[in-house]
Amino acid sequence: MEIFKTKTALRAFLEPLKASGLKIALVPTMGALHNGHISLIKLAQQNADVIICSIFVNPTQFTDPKDLEKYPRPIEHDLAMLEEAGCNGVFMPDVKEMYPEKEDWHIDLGKAEFLLEGEFRRGHYQGVTQIVNKLFDAVKPDVAMFGQKDFQQVLMIKNMLKHFNLPITIITCPIIREEDGLAMSSRNIHLSEKDRKNALVLSKSLQFVIDHFNEYSLSQLEEKAEALYAGIEGVELDYFTIANGETLEPAKSKEEGNLVALVAAKVGTTRLIDNMIIK
Ligand code: AMP
Repeated sequence: MEIFKTKTALRAFLEPLKASGLKIALVPTMGALHNGHISLIKLAQQNADVIICSIFVNPTQFTDPKDLEKYPRPIEHDLAMLEEAGCNGVFMPDVKEMYPEKEDWHIDLGKAEFLLEGEFRRGHYQGVTQIVNKLFDAVKPDVAMFGQKDFQQVLMIKNMLKHFNLPITIITCPIIREEDGLAMSSRNIHLSEKDRKNALVLSKSLQFVIDHFNEYSLSQLEEKAEALYAGIEGVELDYFTIANGETLEPAKSKEEGNLVALVAAKVGTTRLIDNMIIK
């Protein structure tokens, strides 16, 4: 497995491979890898010949400086996991390599930018699209893998692709969960034992909606799911919503074609997100 710290070195590696007709996949990550990330590498291997994983904790997408500071960076462990998974190359630039100078970035990502995560983390998707655009430019992949775990992020990336008319296929990968249902996340290591138990309410509340979808109205489903959070000490719900999966606006009717339940909550001091596609 090759390791690249600069765009120049990465491009020099990729150019002959592309010239020989090989298909390139990019798996962008912020490191602190878990089996969710590895599932993206595995799916990439089914869809391309050469797999590049990027590890970069992108400062411009953090709205809370403390969150950026305490973001885990276990690089040796990450490299061992990628090697084991059969990843071909890792791009791990430093901040200067990606942001050599101060730059302004703003693109129109549509109304959905300001809903859900966008409401709680103002500017987050500008930062996300800024770095993903830079990574796309460095790798020029044929396909790029993103997790359904960050449901809104996938929509925003697709909007960015449209904006720049980029010829990259986005593949959305299913959420990998712990055995008890908790969605895997790099942030889970910050959960205390008590938080770890409390965090199960996220997947439970989403599963409640899936299991009882035919029994209740949309507003009853939301109410009952939200009620599961009442009285859990140390858990603070940011939002629980059943939304249209294309616009992320609250669903108006159960007949809409594309429905997803999404949640964000602070568990202890750690903010977690999760979602389940209803249909
Ligand atoms: P991150 O390192 O958190 O930026 O995540 C990198 C990629 O892995 C993103 O596309 C995430 O959506 C995806 N991802 C994160 N957690 C999971 C999970 N539990 N299952 C599948 N994909 C995930």
